[in-house]
Amino acid sequence: MHVAVFAFPFGCHALSLINLVQKLARAAQETQFSFLNTEESNNSIFLASRTNLPDNIKTYNVADGVPLNHVFSADPIERVELFIKETPKNFKMALDMAVAETGQKISCLIADAFLSFSGSVAEDLSIPWIPVWIPVPHSLSTHIYTDMIRQHYANSLSDGCSNSCRDGNDVELEEKTFQIPGLSELHIADLPVEVLPREAHETPFSCLLGQIGNMVLKVDTLVVNFYQELYPKPLLNDLKSKFSNLLNVGFISLSMPPPSLPPSTEDTTGCLSWLDSQESKTVAYISFGTVANIPQSEIEELAEALEVSRIPFLWSLRDNIKDCLPNGFLERTRMHGKVVPWAPQTQVLAHSSTGVFMTHCGANSVYESIANGVPMICRPFFADNKLNARLIVDVWRIGERIDGGVFTKTGVAKSLDLILQHEQGRRIRSRVQAVKELVLKASAPGGHATQAFKTLVEKITLV
Ligand code: UDP
Repeated sequence: MHVAVFAFPFGCHALSLINLVQKLARAAQETQFSFLNTEESNNSIFLASRTNLPDNIKTYNVADGVPLNHVFSADPIERVELFIKETPKNFKMALDMAVAETGQKISCLIADAFLSFSGSVAEDLSIPWIPVWIPVPHSLSTHIYTDMIRQHYANSLSDGCSNSCRDGNDVELEEKTFQIPGLSELHIADLPVEVLPREAHETPFSCLLGQIGNMVLKVDTLVVNFYQELYPKPLLNDLKSKFSNLLNVGFISLSMPPPSLPPSTEDTTGCLSWLDSQESKTVAYISFGTVANIPQSEIEELAEALEVSRIPFLWSLRDNIKDCLPNGFLERTRMHGKVVPWAPQTQVLAHSSTGVFMTHCGANSVYESIANGVPMICRPFFADNKLNARLIVDVWRIGERIDGGVFTKTGVAKSLDLILQHEQGRRIRSRVQAVKELVLKASAPGGHATQAFKTLVEKITLV
């Protein structure tokens, strides 16, 4: 068997997918896997070394569509759009290379479900197509029901929602909900802009995502980076009615249970030994992922709150943002805080001193927090962040939205106090522990996620 894997090379999608492929390659050692991704993304996920990959995985680079000597604008989506314009030609070329090098025809195509064109590639080769949904499944549903949501949005506007609704920051719009199975707690303003394009501004990216709903017509096996235990029932039932094999294989980037902490000799950032010196469940870990740009004013407010409150904190802050810190902040807070450009996040969240995670609500961060039973304070910024924050705060109730919606000196202090000191925080902590237990049980032998993974292995080895 020779399984080709198409990665979406932006955000943490490719990293999640290669983690799944590594698990599959270990479980199906006779099967060859060809992992197709852009060179830049391959380099970043393998951090210059591929030596840890099982022998039955080979990686191939696909063209990223960036013209020679191209000068990028400030718009981060430009890379995505250039890449999309190059598809599917770039993937087909790399597929030919994988077949020529291995001497094996492709027997099955696994693809990031964002790459909606991959269904036609599989069809042309007469092989099964197994898409993988990386974000939360609620967002899959927003893509399946995009037409209904847009209609509802248009109705909201004509019902008298003021013109400023169109800017996406109007309270009226913020509070509109819509009736789609399992999404009744979401508000329109939680949705990514691609689902609700402003007027008729379709882009290559929104068109690509717009095709996702068509998967329903072509796919019977869909792999989801999630646990069936965490769905609202109506959403699970609805997706099960659409995909005859809905394989919730669990959080694919994580080992469950999380591995024990490495000895402190491996603690190159010093974060873990610093955490060792703090008291149990007292530390606020702060990180906004790899992409989010936080306004300077909010960095300043957050920093001032941390300084005044004297709550122990560990802040992963990219070097390019560090300049926004108030003068002398690092020196004044060095007795109760630590700022690093990169933290070993999963290990930090697993550490017994970590009491709360202040996060932008990227899917990986949310999953890592759940897997370690850490409550969250949410300050969502972009993409699926707002949708994830809604699930954390209003559906699973395992965190709080930052008081006031943005970082302010008083809001940060209030939110930290609520989670770390108050009865409400204690209830949130016990709920996130309960969710962690559910996830652990589902990942244990015989659990739903383990069973779903076994089914996936059978599907790719017995085609
Ligand atoms: N991360 C990390 N150390 C840091 C900051 C981030 O290990 O100091 C990792 C984090 O564990 C997560 C990923 O980077 O796996 C960020 O992914 P997420 O989906 O949360 O956010 P994105 O960067 O895609 O917005």
